[in-house]
Amino acid sequence: MKIIVLKFGGTSVGSIARIKKIAKIIKAYSKSYRVIVLSSAMSGTTNKLIDLSKKISKNFSDQEYDVLVSTGEQISCSLLAGQLIENGLIARSLMAWQIPIVTEGEYKFSRIKYIDKKKILNFLKSGGIPIISGFQGINKDLNITTIGRGGTDASAIMFAKFFKAERCVIYTDVEGIYTTDPNKLKKAKKIKNISYEEMLEMASLGSKVMQPHSIQDARLNRINIEVKSSFFNKTGTLITKRKNIISNKIITGISSTDNDAKVTLLGVKDRPGIAALIFKPLSQNSINVDMVVQNISSNGKETDLTFTIKSFDLNKTIKILKNNTKISFKKLIVDKNVSKVSIIGVGMITTPGVTFRMFQALAKQNINIQVISTSEIKISVLIKRKNILKAIKALHAEFNLNK
Ligand code: ADP
Ligand code: ASP
Ligand code: MG
Repeated sequence: MKIIVLKFGGTSVGSIARIKKIAKIIKAYSKSYRVIVLSSAMSGTTNKLIDLSKKISKNFSDQEYDVLVSTGEQISCSLLAGQLIENGLIARSLMAWQIPIVTEGEYKFSRIKYIDKKKILNFLKSGGIPIISGFQGINKDLNITTIGRGGTDASAIMFAKFFKAERCVIYTDVEGIYTTDPNKLKKAKKIKNISYEEMLEMASLGSKVMQPHSIQDARLNRINIEVKSSFFNKTGTLITKRKNIISNKIITGISSTDNDAKVTLLGVKDRPGIAALIFKPLSQNSINVDMVVQNISSNGKETDLTFTIKSFDLNKTIKILKNNTKISFKKLIVDKNVSKVSIIGVGMITTPGVTFRMFQALAKQNINIQVISTSEIKISVLIKRKNILKAIKALHAEFNLNK
């Protein structure tokens, strides 16, 4: 039995017209495959549900958040199953608890651990098309969980893994993975093949087209992912292992974020262990610290420390730093108007001078670099948020991505 997993994102199920359109796509595949469908909520629905929770409380219970936000998928799955039935196919919606899709970890950020295949296999054998809610699961206490924003990507990859699917296709509102967000830069070009490593960096550094965990799972399980448009029938992008890819480009893509904040502590009393004392309470409060720079202490007594966090964690971070009696500093400065822009590419491993070219291209545009961080296949810089598009344009041209 050849199995294919199809995932449809929010815009792909965003209206009744869209649902009618993708029902046709599903029907076409059902002629040569047993089809498993994973659906997101209709676009905008999850955001609306989150807004409702905020109207109750800023500290809305995480467990109730999962019960609330997982309901969006129930609507889209039933509408899609209903449409397929209307078109003469055998279909049904299935929520995570009915299967079950078992998750582990905290509410809001659980991970799929296990999928019980029995019910779905039986349904597939009877010629049925299961329409499964992405994004949700249940934990060992049988409570509803969710797996992070954009999580239906990860649900699809885990279904491809557990059912040993021959193909896994992610349908979205763009034609594939582009050199940078095509909705930000018209000159962005569609990438034919991209490695898991590069896609993981791009996703983690702000390209929301794929959820980072889904790429990690695909890489671990060697699952090829096809990303394509549900609007136009065009070849998309294949996310696959590095060995399958031939490219002469040094840089594959450019990503950016729009929700960073920079925190600087001036005049921190310097002694061994001070950085750990600053960051320990942040990590205990699940605050993710990203870029870090510590200046060399000029007098051997005091130093300045700068780091970045997500802007939604800023108030919590300030409170924790001010209440931390184990450290002392002269001044706390914050800047909410910063963004991170990153260039990503396995080509930079073997090509010298990439850092210089990046910095020079930004300097030519008069863009000041505030913080730098690098890995083997990416260079990230923190800049003023208002310069982000200018920076993307300059780097896109510098690394020949316009062609
Ligand atoms: P879905 O609802 O289908 O999951 P998302 O909104 O999560 O879709 O992701 C698709 C969006 O990702 C696109 O509309 C695009 O604006 C954005 N995006 C960001 N970076 C990229 C990129 N490098 N290539 C393609 N799309 C990108
Ligand atoms: N509906 C969820 C979200 O908006 C999951 C998804 O779309 O993948 O984050
Ligand atoms: Mg998405």
